[in-house]
Amino acid sequence: MIPFNFVYCRPATLEQAYEAFGQLQAEGKNPVYYAGGSEVITLCRAGSIAPGAVIDLKEIPECRVLSADREDLHFGAARTLNDIKESRLVPLLTLCCGRIADHTNQCRITLGGNLCGTILYRETCLPLLLADATVTLFGGRGLHAVPFQSVFDGRMQLEAGEFIVEVGLPGWAAQAPHWHIKRTTNEKIDYPLVSLAALCKDGRLRVALSGVCSYPFRSAEIEDVLNDSSLSIERRVEGAAALLPEPAYSDVRGSGQYRVFVLKNTLQTLLEAFSNDQI
Ligand SMILES: Cc1cc2nc3c(=O)[nH]c(=O)nc-3n(C[C@H](O)[C@H](O)[C@H](O)COP(=O)(O)OP(=O)(O)OC[C@H]3O[C@@H](n4cnc5c(N)ncnc54)[C@H](O)[C@@H]3O)c2cc1C
Repeated sequence: MIPFNFVYCRPATLEQAYEAFGQLQAEGKNPVYYAGGSEVITLCRAGSIAPGAVIDLKEIPECRVLSADREDLHFGAARTLNDIKESRLVPLLTLCCGRIADHTNQCRITLGGNLCGTILYRETCLPLLLADATVTLFGGRGLHAVPFQSVFDGRMQLEAGEFIVEVGLPGWAAQAPHWHIKRTTNEKIDYPLVSLAALCKDGRLRVALSGVCSYPFRSAEIEDVLNDSSLSIERRVEGAAALLPEPAYSDVRGSGQYRVFVLKNTLQTLLEAFSNDQI
């Protein structure tokens, strides 16, 4: 049960959503955007947040696109992980969506909610970081598209009232050799110790990671070492693991030391597969 009353808004347009946010904010209602609600409702029930209003983005047509044109693939922020998985438009994104939560929750969790949620993993960001994605936002500057990497620094950097409309991926990402592996402590469905996504572009491996540190990331330094064919696979693995942007994350699922151990094994498997043309 949610132990307080709140206003529920379901705007039909981008403009209405942004205006509602501004108006409810001015009324002191501390509004939040709402998509699948899996996190918002959980946090409200736990008493961690108490918004006076929620603005549901699911009925806005631009937030629901799921299409491929000649150059790009478009994924509306209000599309569920299951919609994206079943579309099979980008195989690497399909794999990442398919390993977040269980099928029932995948039918509810949205792309925008996963990218903007407070849970640190945000695994849908991994293919976006690798494939030079663009993200379309709506806010004080109206509708505008920017490179995903320019507004994602472990978490989305949005201005007050701004929200994600859709994500665009270039057509090449759908054809690129790719790999995804998610290692968990015990169960297949769990938060990751290590979630590693890789994409091959122009013969070079691109790699992004979630679970290893307190935020997901892609690192140019790590990719340089992994692609240095003058080094043995073992040296590359050791070199990459030494270049984490912060000490490895530690929690009840696994210590930082254990995560680094799992990361090294995962990188070893990746590089062996890459050198044997299995990617
Ligand atoms: C059983 C379970 C297992 C999970 N396992 C994983 C996992 O392994 N890996 C992983 O990465 N995640 C995992 N999650 C986290 C899950 O992905 C988040 O709960 C989810 O990201 C929330 O999505 P939602 O659509 O329900 O968002 P909501 O609860 O609707 O919103 C979450 C946040 O995002 C904001 N928001 C939503 N849409 C937008 C938008 N378009 N623009 C701007 N802000 C927006 C909201 O204001 C809110 O702050 C799991 C969740 C569950 C329930």
